[in-house]
Amino acid sequence: MEECIFCKIISKDITASIVYEDERMIAFSDINPQAPVHILLIPKEHFPSLNEIPEDKKDILSHILLKAKEIAREKEIADRGYRIVLNTARESGQEVLHIHFHLLGGRQMSWPPG
Ligand code: 5GP
Ligand code: ZN
Repeated sequence: MEECIFCKIISKDITASIVYEDERMIAFSDINPQAPVHILLIPKEHFPSLNEIPEDKKDILSHILLKAKEIAREKEIADRGYRIVLNTARESGQEVLHIHFHLLGGRQMSWPPG
């Protein structure tokens, strides 16, 4: 998707502070962090949101989640606690239409979310 900003991060046409990368996914720091740790984790394959993930691609979701857990450990927020957010479609506030998990931590979270 040539007009997708996250695809451009994957292709390195836009620079990002990359935390982790493999053949299937990439994790990078959010440009507008909402917590001391705010990392975005995305599949390299473009899907607009969770709504478009087909059954035969479901493994990418567990792959990303378990990598988020490892990154939380590396960032020393695993035991304190962290939040993983997957905004999906309009009313969630999703702005970038390339599925992405937010990994947030390093401060006390509140509930319910805004
Ligand atoms: P959403 O609101 O779609 O769930 O989250 C999109 C996130 O992407 C926001 O937290 C925003 O700060 C982040 N973001 C948008 N554009 C860029 C960019 O060019 N680089 C990085 N690193 N993050 C971005
Ligand atoms: Zn994309």
